[in-house]
Amino acid sequence: MAQRPDGEQPELTGWVLVRMVVREFVRDVRHPTPLTVRYLRCDGCGQVTAHSTDRRLYTIDMARRDITAPPPEAVCDACGHAQPRTVGDEVPVDVTVTCAGTRYRRFGSRRSRRPCGHQFAVPAAAPAVLCPWCATDQPNPARRQPQR
Ligand SMILES: [Zn+2]
Ligand SMILES: [Zn+2]
Repeated sequence: MAQRPDGEQPELTGWVLVRMVVREFVRDVRHPTPLTVRYLRCDGCGQVTAHSTDRRLYTIDMARRDITAPPPEAVCDACGHAQPRTVGDEVPVDVTVTCAGTRYRRFGSRRSRRPCGHQFAVPAAAPAVLCPWCATDQPNPARRQPQR
């Protein structure tokens, strides 16, 4: 009889992979990672807006077998304008606001009635902010009630 530690599979089987995927999924649900939200002054709409997506345009040069990867462009959440990132373009965050939105349900695309309540930092100059935890677009509370 071959010796094997209790409950352990010595060789990599399909079940190990399945178990790994399930474990990853459970970890993901328990510890959701917040979105990366940057606040940039948009060239398109002239406002300080949330930019939560980057766009990268790859140019493939078939003749030279070359792929050019330009710096990613930040896409404005408000108007969809994409602009190249520059050094120091991020508007510094200076106020902390509490999310007034509600979370998404864990499954499906509907939002639950449970308020999100997460706190996150935004620049006071932004008219609208995006919660990195529940992705609710909301008016910037720091704008309506200016903090001394
Ligand atoms: Zn814009
Ligand atoms: Zn939220």
